[in-house]
Amino acid sequence: MKRIAIVGTGFGGYACARQLERRLRPGEAEIVLITPKDYTLYLPLLPQVAAGVLQPRSIVTPLHAGLKRSKLLPGVAMEVDLDARAVNVLKISGEPARVPFDVLVLAPGSMTRTFDIPGLKEHARGMKTLAEAVYLRDHSIAQLELAASTCDPEERAARCGFLVVGAGYSGVETAATLQLVTRRAMARFPQLDPGLLRWTLIDIAPAVMPELGPELGAAARDLLERRGVEVRLGTTLERITEDTAMLTDGTRLSTHTVIWTAGVTPRPVVSSLGTETVKGRLVVGADLQVPGCEGVFGLGDAAAVPDLTAEPGTPCPPTAQHAHRQARTAARNVLAALRGGPRHEYRHHDAGLVVDLGGSDAVARPFGIGLTGMAAQLVTRGYHLLTTPSSRSRLRVSGDWLLNMMAPDDLIRLDFLKDSPGTLEELEHMPITPRPRRISVTESVGSRP
Ligand SMILES: Cc1cc2nc3c(=O)[nH]c(=O)nc-3n(C[C@H](O)[C@H](O)[C@H](O)COP(=O)(O)OP(=O)(O)OC[C@H]3O[C@@H](n4cnc5c(N)ncnc54)[C@H](O)[C@@H]3O)c2cc1C
Repeated sequence: MKRIAIVGTGFGGYACARQLERRLRPGEAEIVLITPKDYTLYLPLLPQVAAGVLQPRSIVTPLHAGLKRSKLLPGVAMEVDLDARAVNVLKISGEPARVPFDVLVLAPGSMTRTFDIPGLKEHARGMKTLAEAVYLRDHSIAQLELAASTCDPEERAARCGFLVVGAGYSGVETAATLQLVTRRAMARFPQLDPGLLRWTLIDIAPAVMPELGPELGAAARDLLERRGVEVRLGTTLERITEDTAMLTDGTRLSTHTVIWTAGVTPRPVVSSLGTETVKGRLVVGADLQVPGCEGVFGLGDAAAVPDLTAEPGTPCPPTAQHAHRQARTAARNVLAALRGGPRHEYRHHDAGLVVDLGGSDAVARPFGIGLTGMAAQLVTRGYHLLTTPSSRSRLRVSGDWLLNMMAPDDLIRLDFLKDSPGTLEELEHMPITPRPRRISVTESVGSRP
């Protein structure tokens, strides 16, 4: 039987596997999912997990809930051997495996992009994984507890200082929602002057969320500033230590919390193909196939898919909206690669963006219409409910929102990751250590997801 290997089960990989399960004839091909997780994660709601509004399990959908015919290989794709048409995998046990394929779909997404900034990987935190979201909530509350328990004014100030680098939608949502958490948590500590709480959002760009347009970006900035978040543009991080952040404009900020959300970069497996990339993203055609590599497709954050609705040469932005829709085109073209037949081109007019600013605040641009306040919040929540991949997850998310209105978060630490430093280095690198063994060639892959 022919084999379709899918690397990654996020927005793109999961939706592609679902489409293929529906369209493949019985016995036509087997689908092997290579992924370290047994769930698909709804990333846009991570800041709400960090804010304690949503429970971590509410934003995950188990693979086995939506995929009945695919087989799971729990591990990380390390390298694609195009000549041998095989993927080299490191299983979650640390053992190597090799997966030969007839057709390959690469959707490993992206990771937080870091630069050569001294101290960044060792001291900054990210907002790209469930572990990071859970960690940040605990860490922020812990800072206030530590501030309240010290008599040293310098330590107090540093513990109450929070810095977010990157004023794109993920940085803005993170700053907005976590600032509300710490503002509420301050009430637990009468010995702390509320004026000590200091949130700063910085970006090298001259505007907040330029992708939303100048008016909505300014509205979001205005709201953040009214809440007490200092927004500084045209500057970025120069270096960072455990309790200090130096900015490129010469400012020195005392802080134990630097959250780095300044862009994403594709996972390293993408470069192992040795084919052309643009800013690390795999170059693919409008049919999502890697040029010159028959039956090898790329999509989502990992691929530079040409945006046929924009200026020639513009790739689709790395968003869930595109990854999810590209999956349908990828599945149709995978079938065309197996059966022969015409290829389809990916073309999608962006439906806009929604940004939750915590509480009843949001900004949104659905189909080009700018919204703020409650109307934007309703659209934002409605959009998330519509695009969450399973009805169970939808029910859990709605339940959490309702529960949060009646019985808000107690703002206590849960200590799930108390022994982890929670840094980019610790939580974004796949925690799998290779164990040298004879490589097993996966002729048939074990269990259902
Ligand atoms: C905080 C935040 C908020 C966001 N908000 C929005 C929003 O409001 N709207 C929007 O459209 N987009 C939003 N995005 C962006 C969106 O989440 C991504 O563009 C989208 O997830 C990309 O989908 P993907 O399938 O390419 O990758 P992902 O969804 O990231 O999935 C990649 C999968 O591959 C797996 N994987 C990684 N490496 C390997 C490997 N080597 N081998 C095997 N598997 C691997 C991962 O575990 C994961 O399951 C947000 C992102 C963040 C972080």
